[in-house]
Amino acid sequence: MRHIAIIGSGPAGYYTAEAAQKEFGEGVRVDIFDKLPVPYGLIRTGVAPDHQSIKGVSRRYEKTALTENVRFVGNVAVGEDISIAQMQDMYDAVVLATGAPQDRELDIPGEDLANTFGSAAFVGWYNGHPQFADLDPDLSGTNAVVIGMGNVALDVARMLSKKEQEFDGSDIVGHALNALGASNIDRVILLGRRGPHQIMMTPKELGELGQLDHAAPHIDPRDLPDQAEDAILEPGLRKSVAILREFAATPEHIRAEKRIAVEFAFFAQPRALIGDGKVEAVEVERTRLERGRAVGTGEVERLPADLVISCIGYRTTPIPGVPFDERAGRFANDEGRILPGLYCVGWARRGPSGTIGTNKPDGFGIIEKIAADMTDGTLQSKGKKGREAFDAFAAEKGIDVVTFRDWKRIEEAEVKAAREGAPREKFVDIEAMIKAVN
Ligand code: NAP
Repeated sequence: MRHIAIIGSGPAGYYTAEAAQKEFGEGVRVDIFDKLPVPYGLIRTGVAPDHQSIKGVSRRYEKTALTENVRFVGNVAVGEDISIAQMQDMYDAVVLATGAPQDRELDIPGEDLANTFGSAAFVGWYNGHPQFADLDPDLSGTNAVVIGMGNVALDVARMLSKKEQEFDGSDIVGHALNALGASNIDRVILLGRRGPHQIMMTPKELGELGQLDHAAPHIDPRDLPDQAEDAILEPGLRKSVAILREFAATPEHIRAEKRIAVEFAFFAQPRALIGDGKVEAVEVERTRLERGRAVGTGEVERLPADLVISCIGYRTTPIPGVPFDERAGRFANDEGRILPGLYCVGWARRGPSGTIGTNKPDGFGIIEKIAADMTDGTLQSKGKKGREAFDAFAAEKGIDVVTFRDWKRIEEAEVKAAREGAPREKFVDIEAMIKAVN
């Protein structure tokens, strides 16, 4: 019997489990650990609450979770409750699928001012992640600045622009729904240090910004390159740029019908956040492009900002004893191999890029490597006991493990508590989740 531990129950974790099943069939036992008592990682706490169709992929993970040889082991913090070395003594292979839950820092003055948040914290807040549920952003001001031109920046700008009815059918948590419903924000500036040809936004997601009830995108046509230059773009980006052009061509009187303006501020590099205790403005330096890179022009401007959310990417949380690539912000690895018997997959391997689906080939790829290492003797099974050893350890340590069946009880309670038309009302603290199990 082969024993595999996967740390992290998000997409990367579950695709890896699915791959292990396909590769080894009945000859494998897979334990998927999560720090939280609930599974699915970013599907639950990252994907925007109004993107329910994307969240639907969890049904596929549930199918994997419900098979005999895969089990969910929630409420266990690997690196705290149990070390990686201890895990490796129990399992033939340990796969880190821990994602990249920490915000990358802007590294500019004023970053610690109040009402300035990274996207992990802000997204975690509206998605009910227990770590961020009490973030309590102040939405009483009128100006928000969202830094970054990726899909996360789009999610955040859209959340800040939606009003109550537009969240119908979503699983946005109650505290965020109330706060956003009462928000005074009527100007959201999306700040990009480069230009329209360098955005990281995908067409479907960008297009949604043009469909909002109370908000309209604003783009200065002068920021757009000559249309002929779009021809060299790869097709997805070309589509996104075409949408930017549509936004820019919308007549002012049409845009003015919507109370909230979502302004694209291109060629603006944030230099400092300004404020007295709480953020009041973002100081930006105008940029121009040199071989695709943003170069400062020395021209400085202040943009009003009562709230700042920086959406500039994420870092993996280091785990004691696991080699870490500080510069890249992920585990040091060679195509997923970290040390003999220790692997990583998903964002923990390649950094925060790609869609949910990108994790599927990633998960299948790492299992191929594990299988190869088992065949060529790199990974010798030394009679490891897998879940039997872990269960003995957990019993001895008094770890309150949450099983998949327990999770189904939590889920049932969440579904019962849902607002009308919503799929669920999530528990936002760990104690409440554990209470629902019992
Ligand atoms: P991203 O796509 O890498 O975008 C990050 C943005 O931050 C870029 O525009 C980048 O600009 C900017 N940035 C980075 N450092 C900066 C700095 N110091 N100052 C100013 N700007 C800076 O990352 P993301 O938006 O966090 O998304 C992560 C991944 O999740 C992506 O693959 C994304 O597609 C995916 N995702 C998908 C969906 C969806 O499909 N619905 C939703 C959310 C996220 P430069 O290009 O100039 O570096």
